[in-house]
Amino acid sequence: MQAAVVTAVNSSWQVKEVPQPQPGPNQVLVKMHASGICYTDVHQTLGHLPGPFPRILGHEPVGEIVAVAPDVTTRKVGDRVGTAWIQSTCGRCEWCQRGRRMFCPYLKGTGIEAQGGHAEYMLMNADATYLIPGKVSYEQAAPIFCAGYTVYSGLRRADPQPHERVAVLGIGGLGHLAVQYAKAAGFETIAVSHSPDKDKMIRDLGADE
Ligand SMILES: [Zn+2]
Ligand SMILES: [Zn+2]
Repeated sequence: MQAAVVTAVNSSWQVKEVPQPQPGPNQVLVKMHASGICYTDVHQTLGHLPGPFPRILGHEPVGEIVAVAPDVTTRKVGDRVGTAWIQSTCGRCEWCQRGRRMFCPYLKGTGIEAQGGHAEYMLMNADATYLIPGKVSYEQAAPIFCAGYTVYSGLRRADPQPHERVAVLGIGGLGHLAVQYAKAAGFETIAVSHSPDKDKMIRDLGADE
Protein backbone atom coordinates (compact mmCIF):
# COMPACT_ATOMS: atom_id res chain seq x y z
CA MET A 1 0.00 0.00 0.00
CA GLN A 2 0.99 3.63 -0.34
CA ALA A 3 1.67 5.68 2.77
CA ALA A 4 3.17 9.04 3.72
CA VAL A 5 6.23 8.05 5.73
CA VAL A 6 8.26 10.38 7.93
CA THR A 7 11.57 8.57 7.74
CA ALA A 8 13.45 10.44 10.47
CA VAL A 9 13.03 13.40 12.79
CA ASN A 10 12.72 16.65 10.84
CA SER A 11 12.64 14.86 7.46
CA SER A 12 10.17 15.44 4.65
CA TRP A 13 7.14 13.19 4.24
CA GLN A 14 7.70 10.59 1.52
CA VAL A 15 4.83 8.81 -0.21
CA LYS A 16 6.05 5.28 -0.74
CA GLU A 17 5.13 1.63 -0.86
CA VAL A 18 4.97 -0.14 2.52
CA PRO A 19 3.62 -3.57 3.54
CA GLN A 20 -0.14 -3.65 4.10
CA PRO A 21 -0.83 -4.58 7.73
CA GLN A 22 -3.06 -7.50 8.69
CA PRO A 23 -5.38 -7.41 11.71
CA GLY A 24 -4.17 -9.12 14.88
CA PRO A 25 -6.32 -9.86 17.94
CA ASN A 26 -8.91 -7.13 18.67
CA GLN A 27 -8.02 -5.28 15.46
CA VAL A 28 -9.83 -4.20 12.31
CA LEU A 29 -8.29 -3.20 8.98
CA VAL A 30 -9.66 0.09 7.70
CA LYS A 31 -9.49 1.42 4.14
CA MET A 32 -8.88 5.11 4.67
CA HIS A 33 -11.38 7.57 3.22
CA ALA A 34 -10.11 10.71 4.98
CA SER A 35 -7.21 11.52 7.28
CA GLY A 36 -7.17 14.97 8.84
CA ILE A 37 -4.00 16.99 9.12
CA CYS A 38 -3.40 18.65 12.48
CA TYR A 39 -0.65 21.04 13.53
CA THR A 40 0.48 18.29 15.89
CA ASP A 41 1.67 16.48 12.73
CA VAL A 42 4.21 19.28 12.37
CA HIS A 43 5.29 19.06 16.02
CA GLN A 44 5.70 15.30 15.65
CA THR A 45 7.70 15.62 12.43
CA LEU A 46 10.02 18.15 14.07
CA GLY A 47 10.50 15.90 17.10
CA HIS A 48 8.83 18.28 19.56
CA LEU A 49 6.81 15.33 20.82
CA PRO A 50 8.38 11.95 21.56
CA GLY A 51 7.85 9.06 19.16
CA PRO A 52 9.72 6.55 17.02
CA PHE A 53 10.84 6.99 13.39
CA PRO A 54 10.27 6.03 10.64
CA ARG A 55 6.61 6.70 11.26
CA ILE A 56 3.27 7.11 9.48
CA LEU A 57 1.44 10.02 11.12
CA GLY A 58 -2.26 10.87 11.09
CA HIS A 59 -4.48 10.89 14.18
CA GLU A 60 -7.78 11.98 12.59
CA PRO A 61 -8.38 8.85 10.50
CA VAL A 62 -11.70 7.60 9.20
CA GLY A 63 -12.67 4.93 6.72
CA GLU A 64 -14.43 1.68 6.01
CA ILE A 65 -13.65 -1.63 7.68
CA VAL A 66 -12.45 -4.17 5.11
CA ALA A 67 -11.28 -6.97 7.45
CA VAL A 68 -11.75 -7.93 11.09
CA ALA A 69 -9.82 -10.29 13.35
CA PRO A 70 -11.69 -13.52 14.25
CA ASP A 71 -12.16 -12.41 17.88
CA VAL A 72 -13.83 -9.09 16.98
CA THR A 73 -17.59 -9.21 17.58
CA THR A 74 -18.55 -5.52 17.84
CA ARG A 75 -17.44 -4.39 14.37
CA LYS A 76 -17.98 -5.82 10.92
CA VAL A 77 -16.79 -5.37 7.36
CA GLY A 78 -18.46 -2.32 5.83
CA ASP A 79 -18.72 -0.31 9.07
CA ARG A 80 -17.76 3.36 8.74
CA VAL A 81 -15.43 4.13 11.63
CA GLY A 82 -12.83 6.49 12.99
CA THR A 83 -10.41 6.26 15.86
CA ALA A 84 -9.03 8.75 18.34
CA TRP A 85 -5.63 9.34 19.94
CA ILE A 86 -5.62 6.33 22.23
CA GLN A 87 -5.38 2.83 20.74
CA SER A 88 -4.76 1.13 24.08
CA THR A 89 -3.56 1.65 27.64
CA CYS A 90 -2.49 -0.72 30.41
CA GLY A 91 -5.70 -0.44 32.44
CA ARG A 92 -3.74 -0.98 35.65
CA CYS A 93 -1.58 2.05 36.44
CA GLU A 94 -2.59 4.91 38.72
CA TRP A 95 -3.65 7.10 35.78
CA CYS A 96 -5.75 4.39 34.17
CA GLN A 97 -7.46 3.72 37.48
CA ARG A 98 -8.18 7.42 37.90
CA GLY A 99 -9.83 7.45 34.48
CA ARG A 100 -7.05 9.64 33.03
CA ARG A 101 -5.89 7.18 30.39
CA MET A 102 -4.07 9.87 28.40
CA PHE A 103 -1.30 9.88 31.02
CA CYS A 104 -0.78 6.09 31.06
CA PRO A 105 2.95 5.39 30.57
CA TYR A 106 2.05 2.36 28.44
CA LEU A 107 -0.31 4.26 26.14
CA LYS A 108 -0.21 3.24 22.48
CA GLY A 109 -1.09 6.32 20.46
CA THR A 110 -2.50 6.65 16.95
CA GLY A 111 0.29 7.78 14.64
CA ILE A 112 2.85 7.32 17.42
CA GLU A 113 3.42 3.73 18.57
CA ALA A 114 0.62 2.60 16.24
CA GLN A 115 0.54 3.48 12.55
CA GLY A 116 -1.52 6.56 11.74
CA GLY A 117 -3.99 7.39 9.02
CA HIS A 118 -1.86 8.99 6.31
CA ALA A 119 -1.92 5.75 4.33
CA GLU A 120 -4.26 3.69 2.17
CA TYR A 121 -4.99 1.31 5.05
CA MET A 122 -4.48 1.26 8.80
CA LEU A 123 -5.17 -1.01 11.73
CA MET A 124 -7.42 0.18 14.53
CA ASN A 125 -8.13 -1.60 17.78
CA ALA A 126 -11.79 -2.55 17.52
CA ASP A 127 -12.55 -1.16 20.98
CA ALA A 128 -10.89 2.13 20.01
CA THR A 129 -13.14 2.67 16.99
CA TYR A 130 -16.25 4.81 16.86
CA LEU A 131 -19.09 4.31 14.40
CA ILE A 132 -19.70 7.31 12.15
CA PRO A 133 -23.38 8.19 11.60
CA GLY A 134 -24.52 7.63 8.02
CA LYS A 135 -25.36 11.27 7.37
CA VAL A 136 -21.90 12.53 8.37
CA SER A 137 -19.39 12.49 5.52
CA TYR A 138 -15.90 11.08 6.01
CA GLU A 139 -14.44 14.53 5.37
CA GLN A 140 -16.63 16.06 8.08
CA ALA A 141 -15.99 13.24 10.54
CA ALA A 142 -12.18 13.08 10.35
CA PRO A 143 -11.29 16.33 12.18
CA ILE A 144 -13.73 15.54 14.96
CA PHE A 145 -11.37 12.82 16.22
CA CYS A 146 -8.78 15.37 17.39
CA ALA A 147 -9.83 18.97 16.78
CA GLY A 148 -13.48 18.39 17.59
CA TYR A 149 -12.87 16.24 20.62
CA THR A 150 -10.30 18.70 21.95
CA VAL A 151 -12.70 21.63 21.99
CA TYR A 152 -15.63 19.54 23.15
CA SER A 153 -13.48 18.48 26.12
CA GLY A 154 -12.78 22.14 26.85
CA LEU A 155 -16.47 22.94 26.80
CA ARG A 156 -17.24 20.05 29.14
CA ARG A 157 -14.45 21.05 31.53
CA ALA A 158 -15.55 24.68 31.55
CA ASP A 159 -19.01 23.39 32.51
CA PRO A 160 -20.86 26.59 31.55
CA GLN A 161 -24.22 27.11 33.21
CA PRO A 162 -27.45 28.14 31.49
CA HIS A 163 -27.11 31.86 32.29
CA GLU A 164 -23.51 32.11 31.10
CA ARG A 165 -21.96 33.06 27.77
CA VAL A 166 -19.17 31.18 26.00
CA ALA A 167 -16.29 32.99 24.30
CA VAL A 168 -14.11 31.15 21.81
CA LEU A 169 -10.66 32.69 21.36
CA GLY A 170 -9.25 32.08 17.90
CA ILE A 171 -11.32 30.89 14.96
CA GLY A 172 -9.33 28.25 13.15
CA GLY A 173 -9.42 24.49 12.78
CA LEU A 174 -10.49 24.08 16.41
CA GLY A 175 -12.28 27.34 17.13
CA HIS A 176 -14.80 27.03 14.32
CA LEU A 177 -15.86 23.69 15.82
CA ALA A 178 -15.96 25.06 19.37
CA VAL A 179 -18.39 27.78 18.28
CA GLN A 180 -20.72 25.17 16.80
CA TYR A 181 -20.64 22.97 19.91
CA ALA A 182 -21.27 25.89 22.25
CA LYS A 183 -24.14 27.15 20.12
CA ALA A 184 -25.65 23.70 19.73
CA ALA A 185 -25.52 23.34 23.52
CA GLY A 186 -27.68 26.46 23.76
CA PHE A 187 -25.18 29.09 24.91
CA GLU A 188 -24.86 32.64 23.70
CA THR A 189 -21.54 32.29 21.89
CA ILE A 190 -18.96 34.97 21.15
CA ALA A 191 -16.23 34.35 18.59
CA VAL A 192 -13.01 36.30 19.16
CA SER A 193 -10.73 36.67 16.13
CA HIS A 194 -8.46 39.30 14.62
CA SER A 195 -9.33 38.14 11.10
CA PRO A 196 -12.17 40.27 9.68
CA ASP A 197 -12.53 37.85 6.76
CA LYS A 198 -13.84 35.18 9.16
CA ASP A 199 -16.70 37.35 10.40
CA LYS A 200 -19.42 36.15 8.02
CA MET A 201 -18.33 32.50 8.11
CA ILE A 202 -18.37 32.28 11.89
CA ARG A 203 -21.74 34.02 12.16
CA ASP A 204 -23.08 31.56 9.59
CA LEU A 205 -21.81 28.76 11.86
CA GLY A 206 -23.77 30.17 14.78
CA ALA A 207 -21.69 32.82 16.57
CA ASP A 208 -23.86 35.53 18.13
CA GLU A 209 -21.15 38.18 17.92
ZN1 LIG B 1 -4.49 16.71 16.41
ZN1 LIG C 1 -2.12 2.66 32.46
